[in-house]
Amino acid sequence: MSQEWNIRSRGHVCTICQKQLVDKAPVVSVLKEAEGGYERLDCHPECWNTAPRDWEPFSLWEGVYKAPPPPDARKEPLKKETADELLRRLISLDDPAMKNVVYVLAVMLERSKILVERDAHEQEDRTIIRVYEHRKTGESFVVLDPRLRLENIAEVQQQVVALLSGTKTLGEVSESADAEPQTT
Ligand SMILES: [Zn+2]
Repeated sequence: MSQEWNIRSRGHVCTICQKQLVDKAPVVSVLKEAEGGYERLDCHPECWNTAPRDWEPFSLWEGVYKAPPPPDARKEPLKKETADELLRRLISLDDPAMKNVVYVLAVMLERSKILVERDAHEQEDRTIIRVYEHRKTGESFVVLDPRLRLENIAEVQQQVVALLSGTKTLGEVSESADAEPQTT
């Protein structure tokens, strides 16, 4: 796979029938392998179950559609917003040297109940592609789990904390991450 991770927003209309998804109603979310990443589909369950298709989903999960909140309800505690922002920034950089940092940050966001894991695929090299969904915005994040050794996780966590606190830049972390073999 040329790109190890990917972000996809949740749709607000059904991919199949193009009608509005209903607030607090069930939604079927699907990732479909595509060139350079994944396509995401969000559908009414009845549309998903009845529409014909000739392909197999990479990931499929059932969730609950939440309509976007009004703008002033979106304010989050500063620290959580920063961790969110950092994950998006790292994913958009698409730097393979940052894969450990991306994964540990995703795990930290999962423990903070910001992300929820929806699916996992083990690959031939033992790494795992994990699919996370943002609990509030419904975005999906495809993150490579590089199978870090336990003793390396603490080190990567320190890099994440240094990035979040602003004591290290992305360039500095990327360079040091590149120099060290960290996966099993
Ligand atoms: Zn539909």
